[in-house]
Order: sequence, then structure tokens, then C-alpha cells
Amino acid sequence: MYKIIEDEVLKKTAPAELRAEFVQHEFERLHSFSLLIFIVSIAMWLIFDLIVSLLGGQGFTWRSMLFVAFFSVLTMVLWFTRQARHFDVLAVLLVVGLTVGIRLIVSGLPPAVHSSWLVLAAAAMLYSFSVLPLSRRAFFIVQFLIWLLLNPFINTTTSLLELRGVLTACYSVFLCALTIYTFLKLREAKLYNYIMSRLLLDQAYNDTLTEIPNRRSFMTLAEKHLRAEPRVHDHYLLMIDIDNFKKVNDTYGHDIGDEVLKRIAADIKKVMQQFDYARLGGEEFAIYLAGVQREEVAALAGELCRVVREQPTRYPVTISIGVTRVEDDDSLTQALVKADAALYESKHTGKDRYTFHK
Ligand code: GH3
Ligand code: MG
Ligand code: MG
Repeated sequence: MYKIIEDEVLKKTAPAELRAEFVQHEFERLHSFSLLIFIVSIAMWLIFDLIVSLLGGQGFTWRSMLFVAFFSVLTMVLWFTRQARHFDVLAVLLVVGLTVGIRLIVSGLPPAVHSSWLVLAAAAMLYSFSVLPLSRRAFFIVQFLIWLLLNPFINTTTSLLELRGVLTACYSVFLCALTIYTFLKLREAKLYNYIMSRLLLDQAYNDTLTEIPNRRSFMTLAEKHLRAEPRVHDHYLLMIDIDNFKKVNDTYGHDIGDEVLKRIAADIKKVMQQFDYARLGGEEFAIYLAGVQREEVAALAGELCRVVREQPTRYPVTISIGVTRVEDDDSLTQALVKADAALYESKHTGKDRYTFHK
């Protein structure tokens, strides 16, 4: 069963904004890994530069210092970067710096080994950058830059027409194809996983009928508010129940009852958009208001009753609300019990009103 549902979900192509969200999500999760790859790549470049400079007798010049300074700035900027699209730019800049730097190191080696070392460097860089959270466009730019600046046939003694050249070309094409294929395949698999997990979270934390958060979501968010320290303003909890809802179902049928539920959810969303609201189950809703004052809560509860009551519709209903202040030592269950008691009070004093818990 799961396989069929999964296939159905994955058949649809992901919209552009979901893909962009995925790239951002990947970057956030792999931020420290990306930093590590930057630092290791730079360290490797520096080690090779030192080896060639010292053992190769070139000396460590101001040019190397310039590269080190440039790489350090890029790493520092990456440290503070929070946007995936900015990371794309940093990665491209690093590739430009590294490839130019590698060219300069290779030029200090005997000409016969130039092309081999260029291909080795290209392989290492392609591998490193294919595992980074780059966008597709940035990855292809990186590929292009690597093959342009580390091309084993440019500025070397290797010719395409000789044995060494043919071998080098074959290996380069293989490397290029392998890294592109790996990058695209891995990206696709990760994107599918991301879509699936988003869908599952969506279904686990949202109510299918009213499309507002469900009880599970409410309990998680309310618990978080409850434990937040210190409380700047008071916290309040509202419980809502539709009045005489059974009659709506009995008179007009279950489908109309469902329409009414959707309408009430939309009203709650409209009036309480700054707060955490949810459908707890059946025709009961709850709202957690953090950082508010009593007068504000009273005004909002009154406004919600009015909006529901005055809704121009063929199936008018009203709602009753129970309100409680969430005390510092209240558990969520205790607060819910108090709000429920206040709701009971509203029901028994005429409905279509809100009552504060005494
Ligand atoms: P009161 O004013 O005292 O709240 O009276 P009431 O008729 O609303 O009574 P109660 O709250 O006990 O009624 C709950 C009803 O809500 C019973 C059930 O048929 C209906 N209900 C619960 N969930 C759904 C749903 O998803 N769709 C529909 N259409 N009805 C639902
Ligand atoms: Mg009820
Ligand atoms: Mg009811």
C-alpha cells in the first residue's frame, strides 16, 4: 500500500518553490559540513603549495599569501552565510580561487606531469563540490570552471593526438560524467525524501478537513509556549465549541456540517492569525495566546463570536468559548481543564459567548 501511495506522490514533479525550499533546507543542514569542505580544500591547497614552494625550491611568495587571505575571507563569509543562494556564489568564488591557485602550483612542477596533476586536482575538486549543497546551476558552473581552468590540454605539453592525451581525455570525460550523474541522482533522491517527509509532517500535524493545525500540532506548540522562560506577558488558552452542532448535522446532513466546520476554522484563522490555533477534534477548537493582556483576549474572543454569528450564510451557527489564564505552574492539561470548565459555563449561561475561568 505504502509503495503505491509513494509512487503516486513522487510521480508529480516538484514545484519550483518546493525545490528552492529544499536547496535552502539542505544548505542549513549541511552548513558545518560545507565549512569543513572549504577548510579542508584550502588546507590541501596550502599543503601542496608549501611542498612545491619549499621542496621545489620556488619559495613561499606574496602571491600565496594573497590566496590564503582570499580563501580566509571566503571561509569567514561562509561562517555567517545563512542563504543557499549566497553559498552558491561563495562556492563558485572558491572554485575560481582554487583552480587558479592549483594552476600556479602545477606550473612549478616538471612539464611532463602537468596534465596528470591537473586531472588529479580536477577529480578531487569535482568530488568535493558534488557533495556540497549546491543548486544545479551552481554545480554546472563549478564543472565548467574546473574543466576550463584545470584543463589538462591547455598550457601543457600533452596533445590530444598522442597516447597520453587520449588516455587523459577518456579519463576526464569519465570523471565529468560520473560526477554529474552522481550529483543529479543524489539530489533527486534527497529531493524525493524531502518531499515525502514534508508530506508526512503536513498530514501528521494538519487537520485534513479544515486544513488548520490539529491536536498534535497544538499540544507541541502550546507546550513550547508554556515552557518558554521568561514570560513577558500573560498567556491565555481558549477552548471553542460550536453551539447545537448536532442539529446542523441532523437538519442539513453531515456534508453541510463539514462545510460549517471549515467555515468556523476559516473564521478562527482570520481573527486569531497571530496566535496558535487548532482543531482539537470533532467540533472543538483551541487557541493559545502568548504575550497578551486580559482586555485584548476579551476583545478577540468577542470579535470571534461576532464574526461567526454574523457570517452571511444559509447555515448560521454560533460558538461558545471558554477562556483561562495559563498560570506559571499550570501544566497544559490543567490549563485545558480550566478552559473546558469555562466553556461549560458559557454553554450553561446561554451559549454564543465567552467566559473567563474564575
Ligand atoms: P452544544 O451546544 O452543547 O455543544 O451541543 P452540540 O449539538 O454541539 O453537542 P456536541 O458538542 O456534543 O455535538 C458534537 C457533534 O459534532 C456530534 C457529532 O455528530 C458532530 N461532529 C463531530 N465531528 C464531526 C465532523 O467531523 N463532521 C461533522 N459533520 N460533524 C461532526
Ligand atoms: Mg462538543
Ligand atoms: Mg457543540
